[in-house]
Amino acid sequence: MAGYGLSKSRIIAWKQCPKRLWLQIHRPELIEDSQPNEQIFQVGNEVGEVARGLYPEGILIDDEDLSDALDSTRRAMDAHPNKSIFEAAFQHDGVLVRADLLLPTRNGYRMVEVKSTASVKPYQVDDCAIQAWTLGMSGIPLRSVELAHIDTSFVYQGDGDYRGLFRYQNLDEQVHSLIEQVPEWIAEARCTLAGSEPCIEPGSQCNDPFECPFKSYCARDLVLPDEPEYGLDILSGMHETKKQKLRSMGYADALEVPVEHLNDTQKRIQRVSRTGIPELDPEAGGMLDALPYPRCYLDFETINFAVPRWAKTSPYRTQVTFQWSCHIEEAPGKVRHEMFLDVSGSDPRRACAERMIAVLGEDGPVFVYYQSFEKGRIMELSELFPDLADMLLSINDRIVDLYPIAREHYYHPDMKGSWSIKSVLPTVAPDLDYTLLEVGNGGDAQEACREILHPETSDERRMMLTKGLEEYCALDTLAMVKLAWHFQGFGGVI
Ligand code: SF4
Repeated sequence: MAGYGLSKSRIIAWKQCPKRLWLQIHRPELIEDSQPNEQIFQVGNEVGEVARGLYPEGILIDDEDLSDALDSTRRAMDAHPNKSIFEAAFQHDGVLVRADLLLPTRNGYRMVEVKSTASVKPYQVDDCAIQAWTLGMSGIPLRSVELAHIDTSFVYQGDGDYRGLFRYQNLDEQVHSLIEQVPEWIAEARCTLAGSEPCIEPGSQCNDPFECPFKSYCARDLVLPDEPEYGLDILSGMHETKKQKLRSMGYADALEVPVEHLNDTQKRIQRVSRTGIPELDPEAGGMLDALPYPRCYLDFETINFAVPRWAKTSPYRTQVTFQWSCHIEEAPGKVRHEMFLDVSGSDPRRACAERMIAVLGEDGPVFVYYQSFEKGRIMELSELFPDLADMLLSINDRIVDLYPIAREHYYHPDMKGSWSIKSVLPTVAPDLDYTLLEVGNGGDAQEACREILHPETSDERRMMLTKGLEEYCALDTLAMVKLAWHFQGFGGVI
């Protein structure tokens, strides 16, 4: 039965959830587009392009029309049996696949699927099995099935040399054990498509292996149980298994959990949530009062890439600081703002380090919120630029982390168990609001930077995102100023 045409991604969608495939084909208007999906797609394209660049003699099958692509593939393989073929198209029994890389061997081909992930995921093995089955049924002699994923230990040396970016994993054994199931998957997927909308409730499959684009549609009729205002999730630091045990004992409300199940922090959360009265230990203010001026409040934004852009960076692993904000309090209440932002596309690290040294000077505490992040980035800069190392490391020596001070000495019922700066800020400065910003969190900042660097982004959009980045990073450091003032009892306005 040929029936509905299937592609590898449709079969994978069916494996995730038959209803997903059914909706994709019969109700495509319900798909929710999301910006992250678009970005994942762009990263995949970039990674694919780099993988092809490693075999410069290869032939790219770039026809968009299916039958043209099938013809071009056949012609290219016949005319150039010793050349690599990229995006080769094959079809069998109505199933269409495109092979990322077909690399010729003495008596056949290595089939290599290229992925932007840092390891092999189970769905990718299914993916390769579908691919290998279709090629095998099309008469292509496959000598091996491999998956090339990003090797995060690779260090880019520049000049477009990406040899070593990929780790090739042989999947012959796993694919061999799955390949017999592929015709069953195809038949069942077609059976799903020929029937009426499957009746499947939302569950863990909705995010595994991908976030499903039909979540709103499927959730429309769900009646969710009433959640208490202070659920167990506010009990910071409590392990999930302990929460489950408490739920099984009938405790869904954090305010009702007997104290013998709580540590000191959780008791404080419960106490403050019950009374509704925030608690601030004067010791926090005392610790800050003892520190000299000028005071700097520093925050970084960083970015990483699947395909490194700048020399001496590794895929995903290297967090490149492209932006920082610094509020400088010269004397109590006397504050000015400095910042650094480089989204020009050049390596921002040298300029970032030099400007930071110039702005932060040599004296006074440098406040951060969650010091391991800023300290780690400064340490990396010091290793990269030995001539600046002493000055950079002296900044690290001046760092004072506000996070443990807040965690130890402050809690407001609206924080709902979180001491992230985004949870704390509204409780000390309700006039400052992240939700109104174009860039509202660290993830948004990375995506904004990526979008600005993308060659097809319009100037107008670039300007809007740049402004969003400036406002966001500045708010992070202003939040720290406000927090420090709150601890010290200033309650003033800049
Ligand atoms: S939201 Fe969940 S239940 Fe609905 S189609 Fe997607 S995976 Fe299936």
